[in-house]
Amino acid sequence: MTGRLKRGRALVAGGSLGGLMAGAMLLREGWDVQVYERATGDVESRGAGIATHTELFEAFRRAGARIDDQIGSTLTGRTAFDRDGAEIGHYAHSQVLSPWSLLYRRLRETVPAAAYQSGKEVRCVHVGPGEAGLEFADGSKVEGDLVIGADGVWSTVREQMFPESLPVYCGYVAWRGLLDESSFDRAFGRYYGPLQSLYAEHGEQFIFHMVNGADDSLEEGRRRFGFLWYRSTDATSELPALLTDEHGVTHAHSIPPPKIQRAHIDHLRRIAGDLLPPQFAEVVRRTPRPFLQPIYDLRPEAIVRGRVALLGDAACVARPHVGAGVLKAACDAISLSQALKEASSIEAALMKYQADRVPECHRLVDKARHLGSYLEGTRRKGSSVPVLPIEDLLRDSGRG
Ligand SMILES: Cc1cc2nc3c(=O)[nH]c(=O)nc-3n(C[C@H](O)[C@H](O)[C@H](O)COP(=O)(O)OP(=O)(O)OC[C@H]3O[C@@H](n4cnc5c(N)ncnc54)[C@H](O)[C@@H]3O)c2cc1C
Repeated sequence: MTGRLKRGRALVAGGSLGGLMAGAMLLREGWDVQVYERATGDVESRGAGIATHTELFEAFRRAGARIDDQIGSTLTGRTAFDRDGAEIGHYAHSQVLSPWSLLYRRLRETVPAAAYQSGKEVRCVHVGPGEAGLEFADGSKVEGDLVIGADGVWSTVREQMFPESLPVYCGYVAWRGLLDESSFDRAFGRYYGPLQSLYAEHGEQFIFHMVNGADDSLEEGRRRFGFLWYRSTDATSELPALLTDEHGVTHAHSIPPPKIQRAHIDHLRRIAGDLLPPQFAEVVRRTPRPFLQPIYDLRPEAIVRGRVALLGDAACVARPHVGAGVLKAACDAISLSQALKEASSIEAALMKYQADRVPECHRLVDKARHLGSYLEGTRRKGSSVPVLPIEDLLRDSGRG
């Protein structure tokens, strides 16, 4: 079967983790690949800790990306705490947590500069029999044999090609932050360093863990801690205020971290003392610049149309409780490059890719909905949504 399909020209919209993995794999299979990324500046500053899985490293190998023991910090278990800060449960589970920026840099090295264009915003897709092309915001156009939409949760490619497929706000946001290990004493770093810590009572959910330092260091004292605090946030009365910047501009869907109003961050720091175990309230107070991400999900019925395929968050969005967005993008890239390697036509390969990946999208979205359902309604009047047993959260979160 192998090698029957003539390698053509693949146009990838979006040059983040998903686009880079797909682009690098197809380059290694002999395709002529061009990756188009809208952002011009510092794509690297986006991330915090990403829970990794074996399949992610398999994708790294296929993409030709470097993996070594600096790739992340190894956590040995998950520990739950009560409102007073005492341990109430533990689940032994080893997992490597990598900084998003390090994964990005390692993948970026695999795509030659000539195949990666920054500051190229895809405006629309052109499709015709046996071809697919892109048109950009600067008016230029490019033709190819295949378009891969890897342009994230608010994908332009999906909006045009799959208008029926829209992400839905889940009723809560994730406040996130990074702070230096050196903000705390040594004993704190040694105790919390190997753990993924969890607090999940009274409708709050707070997750706290170690990641590499700013220079990727894993050396004691030079690493960083990351937190993720899910907060129920009403779509009409609360979310628009959080997405409104100092100049009164309300951003659609999400707000760039530097634009979050200082007053919202001050408020978060104040309420942390009333809502979180004391050690985690202190973490929030000491974090220099927390930022927020509204949580959306999307359960698609189709991810392929003609010679256009969606991949990563453009294809499907599972809430972050499964810790699988990057993993899913990796498995999408493996599935797509394998299908293109084995099939006799691009159309047949894309149909195989869709048949392989849509059921997996459904499994992930459904599992993440189950894990996050209690956060949707916790502050709704009279809500009786039960909090999941802490043992289930410890065992099932962040495992794909
Ligand atoms: C709070 C939170 C925690 C998370 N934790 C984890 C975790 O622990 N583990 C995990 O695996 N995943 C996690 N995720 C999910 C993960 O971040 C995403 O699934 C992953 O980044 C998706 O990668 P992507 O390449 O598909 O999309 P993105 O990273 O969103 O990249 C899309 C790219 O396309 C570009 N783009 C957009 N529009 C255009 C256009 N018109 N033209 C050109 N370029 C364009 C964007 O600039 C961007 O670079 C988390 C997500 C959230 C919100």
